[in-house]
Amino acid sequence: YDGRQHWSLREAYLKHRDRLRQAQGDLYRVKMLLDAHFTSQSSCLKDLDLSILERIADFGFSQGPAVGFLANWRRAPKPVAAASDRPGIRFMARKRPLLPFEVAAGDWDCVTVSRSCARVVCHDGRLHRTGRRLEMLHKKFVLDQAYDSSVSDSEFYEDAVKPLVTSLKEEEAATIICYGQTGTGKTHTFNACWKRLGADLAGRSIAVTFFEIHGKKCYDLLQQRKEVTLRSDAEERVHVRGALTLSADAAALPSLLEEALRLRRSEATERNPLSSRSHAVCVLALDGGRTTLRFVDLAGSERNYETRSMTAQQHRDFAEINKSLMALKDCFRAHAQLLRQKSTRVPYRSSSLTQVLRSCFTPEHRTLILATISPTATDLLHSTNSLLQVTQMSKALSALRSEC
Ligand code: ADP
Ligand code: MG
Repeated sequence: YDGRQHWSLREAYLKHRDRLRQAQGDLYRVKMLLDAHFTSQSSCLKDLDLSILERIADFGFSQGPAVGFLANWRRAPKPVAAASDRPGIRFMARKRPLLPFEVAAGDWDCVTVSRSCARVVCHDGRLHRTGRRLEMLHKKFVLDQAYDSSVSDSEFYEDAVKPLVTSLKEEEAATIICYGQTGTGKTHTFNACWKRLGADLAGRSIAVTFFEIHGKKCYDLLQQRKEVTLRSDAEERVHVRGALTLSADAAALPSLLEEALRLRRSEATERNPLSSRSHAVCVLALDGGRTTLRFVDLAGSERNYETRSMTAQQHRDFAEINKSLMALKDCFRAHAQLLRQKSTRVPYRSSSLTQVLRSCFTPEHRTLILATISPTATDLLHSTNSLLQVTQMSKALSALRSEC
């Protein structure tokens, strides 16, 4: 492929169906590698990720021309938006690695993460409608922070979660929300955080409440999914009536939480054998409730079209989940408006989820919203959707910042 020639996929397709399928994948990959490099932010050749050259060389490019080719693409890195002047809410993304079964199925990585520029680029390769050439669309999303699949759990924790935990002062509260398609690492990330959290909270008193929201109902994950109810008090603070509060020491925390998370309502969907159909909310009250730390594992953000044969109950579940995610987005938008004095209230009563998360929509609360992303071409639609939702919320708040 010399970049000038056309290739006719349709003709080749008729001749060599199977080989073409392979070749098409290879072409995607080469083009993606090159494009990934062009859209990444290396300002000069010495910053070049040499592994990319090796990978291109794998596809038959010799390294010399490849270096020359890439060296023509010098771009000044854009400054990263300072995240600290956001009003308490930070938006991040984390890409998980390709899993062995995806590699086996011939899937490939089509998401590039630039950590220094806090951006995620989704490379969407598709056949042009004439059927005669490949088209490559690059969708860029800017966040406060972006973590590549090479970032280990401990590095992620140290960078994203630990500052939030250790800087929490008395009477302060923080919430960490994971949002993304099923199978993108929400549970994985939380389990990893809890393992490390134990060490940072050693010596402090911890009281745990852990429940899930399934539709309009709530179930206690510390009491074998006993049904509990949401109640708000005179000051409009939301309580979970009937939920058990366990005091745990820091060392026992990870196993306790992991055990509770296993009780969640999971159901096999067509694509994901274990898809979570509920939101899990874990509340850690530290030092006798003076400081609160919350972890929210949201239900998979898949759209309805994902599953072809659904029962009536599943339809209701999907509708309910989508409704609560919409409500969450509406609340963040309203919160941004409220801070701008363009609105007077946040519509948090519209779903159980937003009722529980109500304190997130107050100016002093600290919130981390993490979009978890799958790297595969198969999941690209979901990945771009998750990123779109999160960047939309982020933009609502950025607009606020620029007005201030
Ligand atoms: P979710 O809770 O979003 O449905 P899971 O946390 O269950 O997704 O992750 C799905 C699979 O991906 C699991 O097998 C998990 O081990 C793997 N996984 C997710 N994130 C990572 C990661 N950062 N590193 C390695 N494996 C990961
Ligand atoms: Mg999960």
